[in-house]
Amino acid sequence: MNEPEKDAPIYVTRPLLPPLEEFLPYLRQIWDSKWLTNNGPFHHQLEQALAEYLGVRHVALFTSGTVALITALQTLRIVGEVITTPYTFVATAHSLLWNGIKPVFVDIDPVTLNLDPSRIEAAITPQTTAIMPVHCYGEPCDVARIEHIADIYGLKVIYDAAHAFGVQHEGSSVLNHGDLSVLSFHATKVFNTFEGGAIVCHDAKTKQRVDHLKNFGFVDEVTVVAPGINGKMSEINAAFGLLQLKGIDAALARRKVIAARYSSALASTPGIQCVLSADRAGANHAYFPILVQADYPLGRDELFEKMRRRNVFARRYFYPLITDFPMYRGMPSAAHANLPVARKVADQVICLPIHPELSDEQADFIAGLIAG
Ligand SMILES: *Cc1c(COP(=O)(O)O)cnc(C)c1O
Repeated sequence: MNEPEKDAPIYVTRPLLPPLEEFLPYLRQIWDSKWLTNNGPFHHQLEQALAEYLGVRHVALFTSGTVALITALQTLRIVGEVITTPYTFVATAHSLLWNGIKPVFVDIDPVTLNLDPSRIEAAITPQTTAIMPVHCYGEPCDVARIEHIADIYGLKVIYDAAHAFGVQHEGSSVLNHGDLSVLSFHATKVFNTFEGGAIVCHDAKTKQRVDHLKNFGFVDEVTVVAPGINGKMSEINAAFGLLQLKGIDAALARRKVIAARYSSALASTPGIQCVLSADRAGANHAYFPILVQADYPLGRDELFEKMRRRNVFARRYFYPLITDFPMYRGMPSAAHANLPVARKVADQVICLPIHPELSDEQADFIAGLIAG
């Protein structure tokens, strides 16, 4: 096998960056107009373009996914307790704490690694007002069952869809489920605006409330209707998003090829389980998680270090669990006995490098390191 240069590092992800020359005309337009932020033309165009591309009604752009999550909770006036997953990026639970809301952690499904719907009802109390599930790795949650439970108990549903850009579920965007969905456009995500995020909603009234909340609560020059925040995406970030959108289909197609390559190379490696099959319809292949099981010759961290020594920088998403961090550890729902599946998976998972610039040779080299 042809091994790449040992000192050429391979990262878990690389940002999509179109050629700089293609960005210059956008910058010139911003400089000429001197319209830098506050609902400028690129902001408006990107909201329209994303709604069309994603197949959703309304998109409200934000400075980050985290500010969008915090604002989504404010939009629906969520208080009390919210049921969520421990197996996600820490921002999911942090957005609850920033709103003075108590996260209630529920274990995950061992197959999808998403919030296990069969365990939600037991966690509902009179204080519960909402469910905040995550489409982990872009794999859709069991949206039908979650919606059913939410309807019975009168709960709101806010999806953390930070991983789910472009994901289709049963023929339409997965973002059309729940009351709101939140996207992240951070540099490490499938689609990026350097930093950025969005709230997806389904009616004009909600979009208007979101737009007020992300602009200090201003309705007009002299009217403030809510204690809003500054969550507005700048014209530079929005322009970059418009440019990047042109290359997104090719990027998604390349991700699919790499996922298929890993899947077939690792299919017969004892002790390695690929979490997601490469041929799921409507997937975005944002991540390629594997589970290192007891019958693999190395422990998970040993394999992780072995890859590092060959300059392959995989990541242990999501380890540690959110519930191991000090601000969550003492909560009753964070107890080990409450989250056996999440704990086990967090100790087995490695996300392999996957991004549009990863070559076939690099993918084969990584699969070879794991198999050998
Ligand atoms: C990236 C991410 C976020 C935070 O998004 P930012 O844009 O970085 O603020 C939230 N939730 C999940 C699941 C994420 O992966």
